[in-house]
Amino acid sequence: MQYVKALNNKVTDSVRPDLFNHAASLGFGDIHFKIEKKTGLYAIVAIHNTRLGPALGGCRCLPYPSTEAALIDVLNLAHAMSYKAAMAGLPLGGGKSVIIRPNHIEDRVALFEAYGRFVDELGGRFISSVDSGTDTADMDAAAHYSNFIRSTSDRGDPSPITALGIRRGIQAAVKHKLGRAQLEGIHVAIQGAGHVGYHLAKELHYLGAKLTMCDNKQAAMERCAAEFNADLVAPTDIFKVKADVFSPCALGAVINDNTLPQLDVAIIAGATNNPLADVTHAQDLHQRGILYAPDYIINAGGLMQVWIQDAIQLHNKVFSIYDTLINIFEQADNKNASPLTVVDRMAEEILYGSEPG
Ligand code: NAD
Repeated sequence: MQYVKALNNKVTDSVRPDLFNHAASLGFGDIHFKIEKKTGLYAIVAIHNTRLGPALGGCRCLPYPSTEAALIDVLNLAHAMSYKAAMAGLPLGGGKSVIIRPNHIEDRVALFEAYGRFVDELGGRFISSVDSGTDTADMDAAAHYSNFIRSTSDRGDPSPITALGIRRGIQAAVKHKLGRAQLEGIHVAIQGAGHVGYHLAKELHYLGAKLTMCDNKQAAMERCAAEFNADLVAPTDIFKVKADVFSPCALGAVINDNTLPQLDVAIIAGATNNPLADVTHAQDLHQRGILYAPDYIINAGGLMQVWIQDAIQLHNKVFSIYDTLINIFEQADNKNASPLTVVDRMAEEILYGSEPG
């Protein structure tokens, strides 16, 4: 909190920009901007907390409507990464990066090489992996200029491991909420048939779950219909699907004042980072009897894959997401609180001890 105190000494409330307020309230940290006109790189790296180790997080490359939208996204994501690494017991801090995707990318390799140079300038305080809109080939290009790049093609795509962790999380939620040890016949509505959504559908189909899916991309949906017998609905209809589980695997803030009343499910458990538009929605879900598996616990498999080299250790760590969630759900029941409230306090205890962020 020294950062906040220093800020308070230098500027008054009346002139302090709101985004600084937002960043300070989340406990940041530092935020770095980079413009390289030649390659079209407009990028932000947000480093939330490095108390446990270097900040590790994915790189998003999306067409943000404004710089402010990109900045808010990267701040919220980096904040969640600190909590994710802390709860996963990894010697890592939390960070994230975004590249504001240009309308037309002239040379994608050059763009990500420029990104690699940006990451390298931070001297190892931030380590980058992939996220929405980037892939292992992009990280290969970035790695031409920095050793602080993960998720390169030699290490492979973390999405299948993330999906395995989500499957374990869904199993924990189904056991806790529905008293069922098997996923046979459990109906899961998956929003997003991208990297994680596809592999999650594969996992669930193998275990006999019934699937309903949507995606903005027709081809991605049809592939899941063909391979996993998934029923398809329009993206706007996925919230209305009567199912056991809603699994958000697209972009954030999908549980909001508009969608929450439409939900007809017992459980929310998916890959999406920050799926709740506001933390108060965790309490709303709790009051409505919908069990919410906190995002940064259930989707930690990708982070584990990026950091843990040994295959057996990695497998055991990802499988342990089941026990971690059962523990959180039981504590939440005992406290009559939402699972998110419980796990936020646990993570803050690890990150800040008795000095909350
Ligand atoms: P992705 O970009 O590969 O897939 C997302 C899919 O969602 C795309 O196919 C896109 O067309 C679709 N989509 C976007 N908006 C939609 C909407 N409104 N309705 C329906 N479909 C929509 O991304 P991903 O790697 O699969 O990641 C999905 C989510 O999981 C993201 O929030 C990401 O931050 C999170 N996550 C991913 C990983 C990982 O290992 N990839 C790890 C942890 C968390």
